[in-house]
Amino acid sequence: MAKSSPVAKIPPRRKRDPLTRSQMMARIRSKNTKPEVLTRSAVHALGLRFRNHVEGLPGKPDLANKARKWAIFVHGCFWHSHGGCRLASSPKSNTGYWTEKLGRNRARDAEKISALRAQGLRVLVVWECEVRNGQLRDALGSFFGKRPPWRKDL
Ligand SMILES: [Zn+2]
Repeated sequence: MAKSSPVAKIPPRRKRDPLTRSQMMARIRSKNTKPEVLTRSAVHALGLRFRNHVEGLPGKPDLANKARKWAIFVHGCFWHSHGGCRLASSPKSNTGYWTEKLGRNRARDAEKISALRAQGLRVLVVWECEVRNGQLRDALGSFFGKRPPWRKDL
């Protein structure tokens, strides 16, 4: 099910040069990224059912349950311009191109989210850095409810 990722083709860290911008893009743009896979596992662990890359909903959310009316996007911080995030620093070359491209992405993200909300869905954006920093469970906890099943003591 998981598509093979371009990451697998890159040699071990100590041997390789810094990633080129296009290699970064390839990693950032791929579906089934590590943050996405971890998010799916965490939502599964809550006992919630969902589908992946849901056709028929605006923006094909990475995870969604139409009947329960929720959708989750897992966003790479660079590609989706996470505000104030160190992973979202602007490229130093070709700045005009990137400003425009990333601006379009931001606008498209906002449109998808409003379209989903207009259909009555609740929408959560999970950021790559939240997954890396161990904040995923908290983010899911506040989205799905104050008494997450993994904390019976709350
Ligand atoms: Zn971030």
